[in-house]
Amino acid sequence: MTRIKLASRVTNIRVSPSTAAAQKVRDLKAEGREILNLTVGEPDFDTPQTIKDAAIAAIDAGDTKYTPVNGTEELRKAVQHDFKTRLNIDCELNEICVGGGAKQVLFVALMATVEEGDEVIVPAPYWVSYPDMVIANGGTPVILTCGEDVGFKLTPQALEAAITPKTKWVILNSPSNPTGAAYTADELRALGDVLVKYPHVLVMCDEIYGRIWYADFKPSSILGVCPELKGQALVSNGISKSYAMTGWRIGYAVGPLDLINAINKLQSQMSSCPSSVSQAAAAYALTADQSGVEEAVKVYRARRDRAHELINAIPELSCTLPDGAFYLFPSCAGAIGKTTPDGKLIENDLDFGLYLLESAGVASVHGGAYGLEPYFRISTATSMEEIEAACGKIAEACAALK
Ligand code: PMP
Repeated sequence: MTRIKLASRVTNIRVSPSTAAAQKVRDLKAEGREILNLTVGEPDFDTPQTIKDAAIAAIDAGDTKYTPVNGTEELRKAVQHDFKTRLNIDCELNEICVGGGAKQVLFVALMATVEEGDEVIVPAPYWVSYPDMVIANGGTPVILTCGEDVGFKLTPQALEAAITPKTKWVILNSPSNPTGAAYTADELRALGDVLVKYPHVLVMCDEIYGRIWYADFKPSSILGVCPELKGQALVSNGISKSYAMTGWRIGYAVGPLDLINAINKLQSQMSSCPSSVSQAAAAYALTADQSGVEEAVKVYRARRDRAHELINAIPELSCTLPDGAFYLFPSCAGAIGKTTPDGKLIENDLDFGLYLLESAGVASVHGGAYGLEPYFRISTATSMEEIEAACGKIAEACAALK
């Protein structure tokens, strides 16, 4: 077997820890273990039939060819309308790009801008991919811990203190994976007031969970509340989570024209364009009746409420109430320092997660993977029965600690 010398942009990054956790669950299930899987990062619903029908109609109509590099006009119009009506963002059609999932759009945006040694501010807890995307593009992630005391959110003071002449980006994710915390309009305004003072700093706002919303304040976007950031802000979104379309691979963003053009230029050499059929389905999803999303959010909300109640009834655990998305991020501080029935000391959240997996058959992802300990992430994109059974098992496992 030959050993290939791989590029450092590959050897310096990790495989996503949530993908690794999901693989561990598959392995254990293959061994015949019954596992309650709370690692899932995608809706447990199928794509609505009306959206599938729109895709089938597109195939039948011959929408089976390359599209423009920056996406079809139909989809960009749908995105433009969505940004305007939901978030009060004004943009031209050529300020929107479309890629193979929000993940790809964010990656290519970093590729288009980050030079060796540039700093990217990543508030923690963060979505697992951000630091590795930065590293893969030669940048240096600057991790800023945003603990429970600040609602897991970046404050204007912390942002300003972290900005240096090398800062290229700050990444915001609202509602957040893993905490579900979302920024209010006032909080975004305050962050925007800092950013306008530093025009060399770009802000990447990942709003992929923006439609999965429970908070009693309204969803807002930094570009909607601070239009003066137009030359600095990239706001990304996609169809994966809202419409249960993770496999269709469509994401999009609005941003400064020169950045969008650069993203398109790279895409022209990478993939030419995202799938024509998926773009047609995405345009339909964004413009059709939204009652399917509303129904899904009702179901996620009921699960969030139940999981929040059950977790907070466990003495060793405590959990904030998520504003959106489909995750809970409980603290397991009360379990650290305790001992399992077979004599193992729980030293950190990784030990706690392994204990839950081995003794209770409950799979979660440990907080360290998201840059904040001692916590763990559980997903509510699974049935109420599974959530209740898993929380019951977690309670038993915690009660058995000494
Ligand atoms: N951002 C966050 C915070 C996510 O959790 C995910 C999906 N796990 C993505 C982006 C990627 O979404 P997409 O499927 O559009 O690439």
